[in-house]
Amino acid sequence: MTPGRSQNALDSLHFDNRFVRNLPPDPEPSNFRRQVMNACFSRVAPTQVSAPQLVAVSPDAAALLDLDEKAWQSDLFVQVFTGNHLLAGMDPFAMCYGGHQFGNWAGQLGDGRAINLGEVVNRQGRRWVLQLKGAGPTPYSRSADGLAVLRSSIREFLCSEAMFFLGIPTTRALSLTLTGETVERDMFYDGHPKEEPGAVVCRLSPSFIRFGNFQIHGARQENTVLQQLIDYTIRTDFPHLGAPGQDTYIRWFQEVCQTTCSLVLDWMRVGFVHGVMNTDNMSILGLTIDYGPYGWLEDYDPVWTPNTTDAHGRRYCFQNQGQIALWNLARLANAVYPVITDAKPLKAALEDFSRAFQQGWQTMMVQKLGLNRFQPDTDDSLIKNLLALLQARETDYTLFFRGLARVRFSKTLSENDILPVPGPIKEALYQPDQIHQEYEKQLSDWLRQYHSRIIQDKVPRNMQKKQMNRQNPLYVLRNYLAQMAIDKAENNDFSMVHELLEVMKTPYEFQPGKEKFAQKRPEWARNRPGCSMLSCSS
Ligand code: AMP
Ligand code: MG
Repeated sequence: MTPGRSQNALDSLHFDNRFVRNLPPDPEPSNFRRQVMNACFSRVAPTQVSAPQLVAVSPDAAALLDLDEKAWQSDLFVQVFTGNHLLAGMDPFAMCYGGHQFGNWAGQLGDGRAINLGEVVNRQGRRWVLQLKGAGPTPYSRSADGLAVLRSSIREFLCSEAMFFLGIPTTRALSLTLTGETVERDMFYDGHPKEEPGAVVCRLSPSFIRFGNFQIHGARQENTVLQQLIDYTIRTDFPHLGAPGQDTYIRWFQEVCQTTCSLVLDWMRVGFVHGVMNTDNMSILGLTIDYGPYGWLEDYDPVWTPNTTDAHGRRYCFQNQGQIALWNLARLANAVYPVITDAKPLKAALEDFSRAFQQGWQTMMVQKLGLNRFQPDTDDSLIKNLLALLQARETDYTLFFRGLARVRFSKTLSENDILPVPGPIKEALYQPDQIHQEYEKQLSDWLRQYHSRIIQDKVPRNMQKKQMNRQNPLYVLRNYLAQMAIDKAENNDFSMVHELLEVMKTPYEFQPGKEKFAQKRPEWARNRPGCSMLSCSS
């Protein structure tokens, strides 16, 4: 403890830095940009900043480190989590990884603006790697500055925690701080750079290892390092699979396929589009990682992508995410092949992914509808017709399913009746005053189909409603909400960041007084940058 400082839980953190202890380091101690061969990481210190200021903390993430309010309100906390002060036991480093970006091999990427401070083992014995994002350049920064701006840091901070509270695997966000310095960004890449407030997010994860960490050694034929990294990963993060060896390697790859599959299904359930599913943004633990130009579906549009860089090809649009995950897994299979040396089980695992994804998607969709299980003879067309219906009129993906749970069915829904659009569904339409007869007919037909299907399940409607509301969140971090919080924060008002963090903690439950966070995107946000489309500039 520093003399004169009162006891702070930060001083009691127990560090156990397995990654740096077990894997080959880059021998070069100085911080300049370079290709780093035959090493998994480079030691590098965060850059000192002039005026650190705490913007927000996630108390739930702090609890993972056994940090109480006194700890996170201390000056020490803000110094540590902007990178100004290292605690005893920290051993900061940046990881070496590569990746396929938009389908092309990009070579070495690495933690260009992420610095791992160390690994905390908490009182329950759980391991959390502490990582600062935006704390200055590293050997992997290439032509960029190693920094992050407030707007993208708010988006990462809020969405990490929102994702966790949705029950979806993700890296966590401990803190959001301002550095007191400005960072130049050309947000639209149109030759109009602007000075923006610099910020740092501290992320937590059991591991930040990505597909790209394996790929870089595979591509360079660094087979010894590759094997060390695979063995390390299995021992550290997949101990339930047993000691590293041929059989374990296969089981490991199968598990990575499975967790990745269920992650993407979870994203699709809640209408999340990652936006940059490059292989360097794929966590080996199947966590959501690297919140960049992500977005949430507003009206259901399967080819929607939030990422302006992807607007043309739509490689990473909503409906492609499963296929892209598989493509990325195939790149991982290629990378680890030199150690596994048996292509057949790798191929089989990839084929299983396709099957599991298709089945998982059907199950997920019928659960969103409150049904017990997928029945091919009825539910294939039920889902197909539903998706056509959602697209027929601009329909809010989130509000539709919450609304559907509220629709009451009269017992006499006869063959050719055309019902007026039920109120709860009308609330999900972006142009409720432009309903025409054809749509009313389509909706009536579908509701009839749905009604006869739910009767089959013999589950009381109120139970069904409960089931549906557990699958279908009411509050998601809508793109325009995050942007409103950013607009305020850029004027030094952080209240909406705090409020959104709070609301997103119980996304499946109606929260009285918080109705405004469960509304359709307002018209002003339809084409506003940050609300509808985002650039990678961050
Ligand atoms: P991303 O597109 O954010 O996943 O980043 C791809 C690569 O670029 C990763 O290696 C990042 O660390 C790096 N990178 C992104 N932004 C910056 C930045 N401002 N400074 C340094 N490296 C960056
Ligand atoms: Mg990334």
